[in-house]
Amino acid sequence: MPAVTADTLTLPRIATPPTTAQQRPVRAVTTAPSGFEGEGFPVRRAFAGVAAAELDPFIHMDQMGEVEYAPGEPRGTAWHPHRGFETVTYIIDGVFEHADSHGGGGTITNGDTQWMTAGSGILHIEKPPEHLVMSGGLFHGIQLWVNLPSANKFNPPRYQDIRAKQASLLSSADGGALLRVIAGDVAGHPGPGSTFTPITLVHATISPGAELQVPWRTDFNALAYVLAGNGTVGTEARPVRKGQLAVFGKGDALTLKAATSQPAAEPNLEILLLGGRPIREPVVQYGPFVMNTRDEILQAMHDFQSGRFGVIPGDKIPHTD
Ligand code: MN
Repeated sequence: MPAVTADTLTLPRIATPPTTAQQRPVRAVTTAPSGFEGEGFPVRRAFAGVAAAELDPFIHMDQMGEVEYAPGEPRGTAWHPHRGFETVTYIIDGVFEHADSHGGGGTITNGDTQWMTAGSGILHIEKPPEHLVMSGGLFHGIQLWVNLPSANKFNPPRYQDIRAKQASLLSSADGGALLRVIAGDVAGHPGPGSTFTPITLVHATISPGAELQVPWRTDFNALAYVLAGNGTVGTEARPVRKGQLAVFGKGDALTLKAATSQPAAEPNLEILLLGGRPIREPVVQYGPFVMNTRDEILQAMHDFQSGRFGVIPGDKIPHTD
C-alpha cells in the first residue's frame, strides 16, 4: 500500500486526548457488499445499510479494488453526468485518469486525491490510463460523494488536484500510527482539500498492536472504514476487519486499535476516518444526481438530455484501444 509513507518518529505527534475527553461510542458496524462499477471494476459499497442521517453530509463511498489486474483487464467508466454534490477520489495504489466537460482533469496516482464539485452539472469520465490497461497491475482507491447544501447545488463546477505530498502527515502519541490529513483538520493540523460542507478526511495506517486516539470535532459525525487489516474501534474494543464501517456516536475523541496479528498481505490496519457537519436537508438521489426534491431530479434528467451539462471535449477523449 504505497499511498504516502513516512518515518512516524520524525512527524508532529497528536497528543493523547485528556482522560476527560468524551470518547465516541460505536453505534454500529456494517459490512460493505461487493459489486461492480462503470464498465466492470470491482468495488465495495462502503455505506450500504447505513441510514442517510448517520452519513450526512456523505452520500456514498466505494472502495475500488484492491485488485491485481491482468493485462487488458483494467476498466473505467463511460462519460456520465453528475449534479448537486462533490466527488472525492483518493488513489492508494495504481493510476486513474479523469477528464470532464469543464476542462478539469488529470492523472492521479499513489496517494493523490482529486476533488470534483459537480455543482450545477458536469460530464466526466474516470478510467485507468492506456499503459495500465496494457500492462495490468495493482489498483486500489476510494471514491466518496459529499453532498452540497441546497444553496450550493447550482454552483459552477470546480476541479481540485491534490498531490500526495500536500497531505499533512502526523503521528499518534506513541509513533505507532501514521495519519495523512487529506481534508479538514486534526489537532490543529489542516489538510489541503476543501469542500463547501466542512469535512475531515484522514487515511491512518496503524501498526500491529498500536492504538490511535484522535480528537474529533463534536459538530461532525464520525465514520471509520477499514481498507485493510483487522483491529478494534471504540474504547469498547469492537472488532472490525477489511470492508467494514464503524459509525460512531457523539463525543470529542475516537479510539482505534490494530490487532497484534495481521494478514500477511496486509501488515497494518488501514483506516479511512471521515467526518463532516451534517447538512440536515432532504436528500433525493437518483443515480448520478443528488438533489433536495423529486422535481429537481426530473429537472436534472431533462437538462442532461437537453445537453445542458456541457459537451464531451473531443480532443480529450481518452483512447482505450
Ligand atoms: Mn462519476
